[in-house]
Amino acid sequence: MPAAAADELVVAVSKGRILKDALPLLAATGIVPVEDPERSRKLILDTSVPGIRLVVIRATDVPTYVEYGAADVGIAGKDTLLEYDGDGYYEPLDLGIAKCKLVVAGRPEAATTTARLRVATKYSAVARRWFAEKGVQCEVIKLYGSMELAPLVGLADLIVDLVDTGNTLKANGLVCLEHICEVSSRLIVNKAAQKTKHARIARLIADLSRAIGAGT
Ligand code: AMP
Repeated sequence: MPAAAADELVVAVSKGRILKDALPLLAATGIVPVEDPERSRKLILDTSVPGIRLVVIRATDVPTYVEYGAADVGIAGKDTLLEYDGDGYYEPLDLGIAKCKLVVAGRPEAATTTARLRVATKYSAVARRWFAEKGVQCEVIKLYGSMELAPLVGLADLIVDLVDTGNTLKANGLVCLEHICEVSSRLIVNKAAQKTKHARIARLIADLSRAIGAGT
């Protein structure tokens, strides 16, 4: 995708839960996609605001698009940002949406400190850091979904995963063993765009802050 024109703002939004929560927040600032992003096959969507366009992409791609300037701003979960290897963006605003927790989970009797633990997760960098800081040796097994299955079939002793209601853990006989951090979605901003499109981005941040404050 070519870089956005100087007077345009491309907003990258993570698909799924974050998109669902982000749309009402954007709507409260007057930004409404002209087509339903969950139904449209278009990858770049115009919005009700001239010059502001949305790209709806995989969560893990949002920081990449923003770091490289293919999108000027992005909406991504703190979990994704912690896992992302890079800091080529600013993170000016906690949007307070798609809240959940990043945890270590496993069977109730599972140990979390013995040597050579096997940990299944899609958050391999986060898991490595967490266990290294505790001085616990572990083997991290990268998965792309259904982490809760891994302890049930003997693939891993523990998982590092997002938990919201805890229903998925409970339904599979698993419990939260350690709390890594609280997660919510953040607005991230490309470093160059922060300078070259300062007024437009400042307005977006102010409008979003107001919408969050109003409890949208
Ligand atoms: P729950 O049963 O409500 O605890 O939800 C757990 C499942 O939903 C796990 O598979 C998580 O990976 C996923 N999940 C929970 N919260 C979020 C979130 N904010 N964003 C994306 N996935 C989530």
